[in-house]
Amino acid sequence: AVAQSPQFEGFARIFGVETEYGVSVTGADRPIDAGQVAMMMFRPIVSRSRSTNTYLTNGSRLYLDVGSHPEYATAEARCPTDALAQDLAGELVMRRLAAQAQERLRESGHGEALRVHVFKNNADSAGHSFGCHENYLVRRFVSLEQVEHELLPFLITRQMYTGAGRVTGDGFEITQRADYLDEAISSATTRSRPMVNTRDEPHADPEEFRRLHVIIGDSNRSQWATWMKLAVTHLVLCVIEESARLGKPSGFEAFALADPGEANRAVSGDLTCRTARLALADGREMGALDIQRGYLRIVERFMADHARAMDEAMPRDGAGHALEQWRDVLGLLADGRGDELADRVDWAAKLRLFDALHARHGRIAQSKLEQLDMDYHDIANGSLYESMLRRGAIRRLLDESEAQRALTEPPSDTRAALRGRFVAAALDAGAQFSCDWTRLTLAGSSHHEAVILDPFRAEPTEDYERLMRAL
Ligand code: ATP
Ligand code: MG
Ligand code: MG
Repeated sequence: AVAQSPQFEGFARIFGVETEYGVSVTGADRPIDAGQVAMMMFRPIVSRSRSTNTYLTNGSRLYLDVGSHPEYATAEARCPTDALAQDLAGELVMRRLAAQAQERLRESGHGEALRVHVFKNNADSAGHSFGCHENYLVRRFVSLEQVEHELLPFLITRQMYTGAGRVTGDGFEITQRADYLDEAISSATTRSRPMVNTRDEPHADPEEFRRLHVIIGDSNRSQWATWMKLAVTHLVLCVIEESARLGKPSGFEAFALADPGEANRAVSGDLTCRTARLALADGREMGALDIQRGYLRIVERFMADHARAMDEAMPRDGAGHALEQWRDVLGLLADGRGDELADRVDWAAKLRLFDALHARHGRIAQSKLEQLDMDYHDIANGSLYESMLRRGAIRRLLDESEAQRALTEPPSDTRAALRGRFVAAALDAGAQFSCDWTRLTLAGSSHHEAVILDPFRAEPTEDYERLMRAL
């Protein structure tokens, strides 16, 4: 067994967010499809790294599988704020690739009106769904049964304040893909759609850790929502981990759901957040808000006993701050003041906008609403969200310069710092390199490699120093 990381103590966590984007094109004079546009976006990447799969100088991963859904996976972060900064940097990466592709396509005779759209959402108009995955490092002793019974009810009901909202054929829903997620937990993401993926790829010492791979969650434009879903899920995970370590019940098992798929659809469809009743495994029924308040109460008690350790694990953010935000939101929802969440929750922001339009112009066609919905998520050519941000109608946690900085600077206190420095040096030297999350490799006349198994470790190992000297 590998010795326990010297930097792992208390409630330290690793966070990572993967975002798949949707691509489309409008205004072209000649036929061109989204797949071709995505390939065009990745042309600079391919010419740089001879592959559509690469790592960036900020330690993150950028790739394109077959099809038209480019993905950006943030570097490992120790706190939600760093993960948010990395995620915003991903938007900037995609925006730049889209702008370049748009320029080249216009120049190559596709017409001056051609526009490349890149959507940070989870479903396209043809009914395909794609994902936003959250990754949390958790201790190995947390069982998958615990994840299913103690975490899943939280993940499903948290969507009341993290859902991105979506205009559907005949209405509006809180989340983007309630209809696509049918299974609770499973190791497959292609055939069935689980809410938590159990594929065992910890990207760390497998004896000590799991990587919890959360599929149920929308891509958010709201910075607050991205931050919040990471921060509050972390708090809940701390309780689950500690109870697993002590071999005691966490108290969350009381919220185990009879049918997670059905509960998920019920939460997504209830715009009041106060009407839907969810069937529990033990035969009772509970409202989604009561389940959230049950989680909050247990976390509050836990934090009272572990305040210092929890704050030390999240120094930039403050665990207490996350708790306060959570309390606030649930309070507003309980008071029927959900509309006041429009400055931080994506679905509520969209709904406020639609209500204002209805008030001003009377009924608006569903197709028009769908268009506005897509515009809100378009990070390349959209204007709705940006204008809300400028007006201060939606909260901003990090400004443009912080996102810009995260484009080149990895989080400084995880192994992403090592990866980022390696990638930057390899690019400077014009050397061919490859990476995965735990390995850095230099191709060439002699073969060099460094293993970076400990995600918490930002200090160079001997292997790493040798690798860097070879550049
Ligand atoms: P898929 O796209 O098929 O879902 P995947 O989930 O296995 O693939 P990536 O897309 O490469 O993998 O993304 C991995 C994410 O996990 C990144 O955001 C990364 O920062 C994060 N991560 C890496 N190591 C760890 C770890 N030990 N614990 C938690 N998260 C991690
Ligand atoms: Mg991925
Ligand atoms: Mg994934």
